[in-house]
Amino acid sequence: MPYVRIQDIINTIGDPLVLANEVFEAPDCTVISRDLILEKSHEKGKVTEIETEDDKTMYIIFTSGSSGKPKGVEISSDNLNRFTRWSKEFFQADNDSEDGNIMNQAPFSFDLSVMDTYSALVSGKTLCLLDKDRQKEVHSILSFLKEMNIGYTVSTPSFINMLLADKGFNENNYPNIKQFLFCGETLSKETAKALMTRFPKSKIINTYGPTESTVAVTSVEIKKEHLDDHHGLPIGKPKPGTYVYIENEEIIISGDTVGKGYYKDEKKTEAAFFTDNKTGMRCYKTGDKGYIEGGMLYYSGRMDNQIKLHGYRIELGDIEANLIQVDGIEDAVVLPKKKDGQIKSLTAFVTGSVPCQSDGDFAASKYIKSFLTEKLPHYMIPKKIKFIDEMPLTSNGKKDRKRLEELL
Ligand code: AMP
Repeated sequence: MPYVRIQDIINTIGDPLVLANEVFEAPDCTVISRDLILEKSHEKGKVTEIETEDDKTMYIIFTSGSSGKPKGVEISSDNLNRFTRWSKEFFQADNDSEDGNIMNQAPFSFDLSVMDTYSALVSGKTLCLLDKDRQKEVHSILSFLKEMNIGYTVSTPSFINMLLADKGFNENNYPNIKQFLFCGETLSKETAKALMTRFPKSKIINTYGPTESTVAVTSVEIKKEHLDDHHGLPIGKPKPGTYVYIENEEIIISGDTVGKGYYKDEKKTEAAFFTDNKTGMRCYKTGDKGYIEGGMLYYSGRMDNQIKLHGYRIELGDIEANLIQVDGIEDAVVLPKKKDGQIKSLTAFVTGSVPCQSDGDFAASKYIKSFLTEKLPHYMIPKKIKFIDEMPLTSNGKKDRKRLEELL
C-alpha cells in the first residue's frame, strides 16, 4: 500500500495508533514497530477481558472508493457477533480429533480474513496464516497445506484456481482438506467441477456478501445438481437475522450484520445505507445485480463500475480519479479486460499528453504507471495505457465506455 494511501487513512481516522509490520514512519501519529510487536509477543502477559458494547465500533476496513480515496466501512461489535454466531457453523467437525486447521489466505485489510480469523477464535480452532511471500509460489502453498494440516480453506475462487493448475492438487495427496469455502467473487462451474472431481469427499461452500454487511450474508453448499441447471452457481440463502430482496434488479441486504456506514462520510453512507421504517432494520444497497429463484439468490453482475480483479475489490473511478492527477492527462477511463468471462487485467484510456510523450507511448505509459505506483496499491495499476485523441461521448454527454470496450 503506497504511503500516500496509508496517510489518507490516517487522516480519516484522526489520531490513530499504528501497528506497523513494515518500516513505516508517520509524523503525526504513534507508530508501534514490528520489532516492538515481536518483542512484546514473547512476553507472558495477563489476558484481559474487555467488555464491548453492542454498538461500539469493532473494526473499520478501508476499501476502494470511486472518488479516488479509500472509504472506511464501520462494523459494530454486535454486527461481528451476529456474523460469527453463523460463520462458526462452517467449521464444525463431526469428529474433532481428526479435524484439520483453518487456513487464512486473505490479508487483514480484506474482510474475508474476518471469516477465518474470528470463526477460528470463537470455535477454538487453530488458524494458520499463509504469508504473502509464500503465496507467490504454488508449490510453497501446497506444502503449507500439508505442513499445517489444513482441513478448511477460506479463499477467493482465484486462489484455488491457482492451486488447481497443479495436477497433484487432489484428495490422494491432500486427504485432510474437508472443505473449500469461497467468498468475494464469482465461483465458476468449471472451478466447482474440478474440485468435485479431484476432492470427491470435500464440501464446497459458496458464500456472498459485501464488507458493508460484515463479510457474508448468504451461503449454499454446491452440489452436482447445481452444475447441471441453466443458472450460474447460486450464492445461497440468507443467514438467520438477514433478509435479502431485489429492488430494480439490485440486491438489497437488510439485517443485523449491516454495518454503521462509511466512517466520517455521511454523504456516502446516506447514498448506500438506510433504515427500514417498518422493521427498523439497517439496510444496504449492494450495487450488485441479482435475482431470487426457489428461495435461492443468484448474482448477475454489478450495476456500477466496481469490479473484482484476482479477488481485489476495485472502483474503476478510484483509478480514473488518480489518473487525471497525472501532469498533462485530461481525461481517463479504465476498463477491465476479460478472457473466458473472467477479468484478467485493466486497460486505461487517456487523453492529453504527459511531459515525456515525445519519447513515445512506451515511455509515456511508464511515466504514468510510476506516478500511480505512488498513489495506488499494485493491483490497481492498469496493465495497459492507451492514448486516444478524444474521449468518445454518448448522446447525453457521458463517457462512452461501450465504444472504448471495442478498442480493448
Ligand atoms: P468485498 O466487500 O471485497 O467482500 O466485495 C463485495 C462484492 O464482491 C460484492 O458486492 C459482490 O459484487 C462480490 N461478491 C462477493 N461474494 C460473491 C460471490 N459469492 N459471487 C459473486 N460475487 C461476489
